[in-house]
Amino acid sequence: MFDTMSTESEQSAHFDKKISEELSGESPIQVVGSDQLQLIAALRVAEERSALLAALVGSSDDAIISKDLDGIVLTWNHAAERIFGYTAEEIVGSSISKLIPVEKQNEENEIFSRIKTGERVAHYQTQRITKDQRIIDVSLTISPIRETSGRITGISKIVRDITQQVIIEKKSAILTAIVASTDDAIISKDFNSIITSWNNSAERIFGYSENEMIGESILKLIPPDRQKEEPEIISKLKRGERVDHFETKRLTKFGKQIDVSLTISPVLDANGHIIGVSKIARDITDKKREEQRKNDFIAIISHELNTPLTAVRSYVQLALARSVEGHDIFTENMLRRAEKQTSKMTAMIRDFLSLSRLEESRMTLNYSNFSLPQLVEEVVNEVTVMSPAHVLNYKCSLDAIVNADRDKLSLVVTNLLSNAIKYSPEGTTVQVRCETTNELATITVSDMGVGISKADQVRLFERFYRVDEDHHQNVSGFGIGLYLVAEILKLHGSKIHVQSDVGKGSIFSFSLPYK
Ligand code: ADP
Repeated sequence: MFDTMSTESEQSAHFDKKISEELSGESPIQVVGSDQLQLIAALRVAEERSALLAALVGSSDDAIISKDLDGIVLTWNHAAERIFGYTAEEIVGSSISKLIPVEKQNEENEIFSRIKTGERVAHYQTQRITKDQRIIDVSLTISPIRETSGRITGISKIVRDITQQVIIEKKSAILTAIVASTDDAIISKDFNSIITSWNNSAERIFGYSENEMIGESILKLIPPDRQKEEPEIISKLKRGERVDHFETKRLTKFGKQIDVSLTISPVLDANGHIIGVSKIARDITDKKREEQRKNDFIAIISHELNTPLTAVRSYVQLALARSVEGHDIFTENMLRRAEKQTSKMTAMIRDFLSLSRLEESRMTLNYSNFSLPQLVEEVVNEVTVMSPAHVLNYKCSLDAIVNADRDKLSLVVTNLLSNAIKYSPEGTTVQVRCETTNELATITVSDMGVGISKADQVRLFERFYRVDEDHHQNVSGFGIGLYLVAEILKLHGSKIHVQSDVGKGSIFSFSLPYK
């Protein structure tokens, strides 16, 4: 019979030969009976199954361990070695208890008695100790091992290392708690602007419940005249950029427009692909109302102060002319100082009035053609008279006629120049350059002063921002000069640039197209 067997599987033939030898204890070249053949076939199936099982156990990512009813380890796969650090040689034959933290021993005993009654325990989360004494989080699936008679002779354990998963779950629980308890609306949406999550504060601020908004378009919150903001925001995010503290208006469920500050960022998956958008909306209605009150107050005060101050300046100038004529040196000196102080106050009030106009979007530009170098020279001369302690050095390469608002640009240059003087020591030089390149005229104001750190350079042009350093704080100011400079240049389609080194000095520059 073995002679006639097909040789397609040598392994199988070898197996049959072995079985036959075992059964007969004689030569393999034998004829066997049909009962024996059935037994041979059954043994073959059993052996194949056991080989398959061994392969599965060997390649599993989970630790697969068996132990007897006294807790002695009987088998230990590769994953068990990887997870716990013990090799099979080290642990087979010894007690499993060295893997169990002391405080988990009772829990283990309790599971053990349940298994002994034939129960199976699935996905039980607990902790274990590795060879190097690390505590790891694991999920256990424990079943009894039975003989064919049904008697329980041991226990099999599948152990999954869920340490990373537990860390992620903890982090996610913390994040969920933060999102739920924050005062800001936190909303996520996909690239079609469809809302995918909505926290408690979103409900409080906008009036819609989570159920009402999930699956809806975010456009529902955007007032009709601001709908174009959404595609602009989305295209920015698609380029991987964030939108920070974007102040705008949004609509509540009850049709009320509220002031919000939005911070919007792309949501990335583990591979760094953009999978959505997260949005934090802060209700700044109260802050805006407060700002409005402050602006109104500043506008009224500035306006009220401006008229008497203009009169005082004129009287001082008249009296100064008289004292010069009468060679009254003492009075002349006093009046020059008075004039300097009134000029400072006039500049301050001019800034405040400009600020309140800007805030109410009432700042309009009165365009005219004029020579930019000439305007700069006028400002330089004016500031030179007022700042005798500094050396002002002005150079211009070519005349450049620009089409711009002369008064507003005068305010820009005055602010840059007075800052250069304010923030640099007496006796140092402030350079003002007007250079023409291609179609642009560039004004540069450089000083040898205290300089500005990189972190402050980013925030310098914010309203009311002042550098929080002693040598900056000792100088009087309100932090609106550079804000006005930036906003006025923005209205002209231009931009202010700054380069600075702390302790060495600063260079501010802007360019305008010229004819
Ligand atoms: P301020 O009225 O405080 O001068 P600005 O808006 O003009 O307000 O300037 C904002 C801040 O920028 C200042 O408080 C100062 O700290 C800093 N700053 C502006 N210009 C200079 C400069 N040329 N050198 C150093 N620091 C400067």
